[in-house]
Amino acid sequence: MKAIVKQSPESGGLVLTDVPTPIPGETQVLVKIKKTAVCGTDIHIYNWDAWAKKTIKTPQIMGHEFVGEVVEVGRQVTNVLPGQLVSGEGHIVCGKCRHCITGHPHLCPHTVGIGVNMDGVFAEYAVIPRENIWVCDETISHDVLSILDPLGNATHTALSFNVLGEDVLITGAGPIGLMSIPIIKRAGARNIVVTDINPTRLEMAKVLGATKVVDVRTEKLTDVVKSLNSMKEGFDIGLEMSGSPAAFTDMVASMANGGKIAILGLLPDNTKTDWNKIIFSSLTLKGIYGRQMYDTWYRMSALLQSGLEADIAKIITHRFDYRDYEEAFELMKSGECGKVILDW
Ligand code: ZN
Repeated sequence: MKAIVKQSPESGGLVLTDVPTPIPGETQVLVKIKKTAVCGTDIHIYNWDAWAKKTIKTPQIMGHEFVGEVVEVGRQVTNVLPGQLVSGEGHIVCGKCRHCITGHPHLCPHTVGIGVNMDGVFAEYAVIPRENIWVCDETISHDVLSILDPLGNATHTALSFNVLGEDVLITGAGPIGLMSIPIIKRAGARNIVVTDINPTRLEMAKVLGATKVVDVRTEKLTDVVKSLNSMKEGFDIGLEMSGSPAAFTDMVASMANGGKIAILGLLPDNTKTDWNKIIFSSLTLKGIYGRQMYDTWYRMSALLQSGLEADIAKIITHRFDYRDYEEAFELMKSGECGKVILDW
């Protein structure tokens, strides 16, 4: 089968090559991939940055965002049948630790990432553990079903704190930041202010329902907040989606007392923050990794069925044949896009 592979630590980029079609084990599911989406994680690997060098064992098939059709199941698989349309949770957990057995598998310390710590889904076929299979609603478009993994990140982050009647700041209008806007709107937020330095993405944020967007290269967040007459004391909820220390500094400075911040963006090790503000304003910081299994999956599926699909579809801006993956990756690197889909 064809697959997009990181071949060796020496080789730059990724290659499209022939590899053996995987054979599902007793508890595994063989999926014929229909669509995959390119994640920021894949770009880290494509760029072969410090994180990728430390994390990725080569050779390895990349990718973790997918939708496909089940073509074969192992002998002990009873939760899914050949012919069903499926996506899957990208984090494989141990099923044995304290968090796994007490219903919090998203906190499993032994989590293994599909397409990160093992072969991924940028291929004609992929093998997925039965526990990670999510059977899809066939009325939802394949494009949207291929991005359930990042939509799950957005849903988990956006619903981390109660936003009903609250003012929300989102720093970072990348795909996950954008996806969280219509979710927060549905959850009843009052003002949704979005910051970024990319005009294309800020424009998308506006279309998706942001009250105000702020290009922090030319505008000050504090000035924009002043223009919102309804806001007096700062933001109640912050969603950090950028991984930018400057954005995080801005966020901490503009929170109301008692404000709550969910952090999904990966901030660099040397990020400084105003600890006095965090302590004296009684702020709460919560790190977000992955999705809640499978609470997030149920919620986002229900949201898609009740109208969210139309908003999420707007975030998908480009589609490529998988053979043109390099063009897709270069576009993602440029940031002049929303989600980018590869058709298999
Ligand atoms: Zn575990």
